[in-house]
Amino acid sequence: MSFFGTNGVRGTANEYINPQLAIDVARSLGTYMGSEGIVAIGRDTRYSGDMLKSAAIAGALSTGLTVIDIGIVPTPSIQYYVRDHANAGIMITASHNPREDNGIKLIADDGTEFSRDGEREVEKIYYSKEFAAASWDRTGDLRTYTNANEDYLQGIIDSVDANSIRQERFRVVVDTGCGAGSLTLPFLLQKLGCEVVTINGQIDGTFPWRNPEPTPDVLTELADIIKSRGADMGVAQDGDADRAVFFDEKGHFIDEETLLSMMAKYMLSMKKGPIVTPVSSSQRMVDVAEEAGVELAWTAVGSINVARKMRDIGAVFGGEGNGGLIFPEFQYCRDGGMACAKFLEIIATGRKLSDIAERVPVYFNAKTKIRCNDLDATMERVRAQVADYDQQVDTTDGVKIWHKDGWLLIRPSGTEPIIRIFAESNTEDRAEELMNSGLQLVESCKE
Ligand code: MG
Repeated sequence: MSFFGTNGVRGTANEYINPQLAIDVARSLGTYMGSEGIVAIGRDTRYSGDMLKSAAIAGALSTGLTVIDIGIVPTPSIQYYVRDHANAGIMITASHNPREDNGIKLIADDGTEFSRDGEREVEKIYYSKEFAAASWDRTGDLRTYTNANEDYLQGIIDSVDANSIRQERFRVVVDTGCGAGSLTLPFLLQKLGCEVVTINGQIDGTFPWRNPEPTPDVLTELADIIKSRGADMGVAQDGDADRAVFFDEKGHFIDEETLLSMMAKYMLSMKKGPIVTPVSSSQRMVDVAEEAGVELAWTAVGSINVARKMRDIGAVFGGEGNGGLIFPEFQYCRDGGMACAKFLEIIATGRKLSDIAERVPVYFNAKTKIRCNDLDATMERVRAQVADYDQQVDTTDGVKIWHKDGWLLIRPSGTEPIIRIFAESNTEDRAEELMNSGLQLVESCKE
């Protein structure tokens, strides 16, 4: 079990994620960087954000790094800043986790998430407690920069067809859930000539109306307002605004896998090239790639894997089926603001979101999880079992077994002693059947 999970380190604020941890993560990063360079630090709107940010600043300064405090920012905003102005970034966020949590995510020199190897190095220093300590006259400088969000929004506007969008004067309802996107998304839409109706747009770390995870069951008010105001689109973001989910003009939630393939199809209509997605993504991405005659590259789960693969093969688009979409012409990270601007670009071509979503083939998913104390040994036995299957087997991340009419994915969790089982097919029954076959397989491979 590693210190950094799929998306940084997370837990209950001021319990596991306490000031000492923030200091030590920052000291580890400074040590890893050889006590040289500039680190940008930002936070989402969580209550404990200032406490943890202050601790991380102190830790980084003690190693001799220069620290730029950029305040409350979406994760893609700090990534954009780091890419051009710093050598690393520390983002205090627990993304979509519940209110009481917080966390720390590290950002690499090029604005992408820290690599797994980099995280392991930082982790080693963290556990060794052998931190660099600058001499009294070499401790770092603290500066502030207050325009990171403005710069980020300008970057998005420069990367989309802003004139076409502005001409349409769209009406858009946004629910930023009191998270970091409250400082960017409504303003982005204004700059794109939209009439904006905002709910939960005040920054509030108590998240009074909904938890930071934008699931359809907590977004009913958004759906209602879309209908009552005759809006063209609805959008909601998670706590750090790297992910966005969308509603069409009828107030219907667009399933995130559908969303991913809609955007992939649009991006491929603008420019042909490879696309990238994790092994957990839907058959819909295969359909899109086949229709366009382009390569679809599969990666391990985690946006960092998708982003880096995209850069390696010069992909035109990539993303995950959870509303995390990556646009390489802007930056190699999940970006909820850019996703919103791109969907406006799509509907500025005259098509309704509901029409596009309804054209995406329907697939059914089933998933379950199973407790398992020895993940490695169990997965080893699963791999051995499937080695002589007739079906195509992909071991990029866990074990994915392709059937003619669907697939089954068996994947160990990175943070908990459980194995997750996912299946997809064109009927609900078959998806359940595939999932159950996976469950049986794992049961037979457990100690
Ligand atoms: Mg997030």
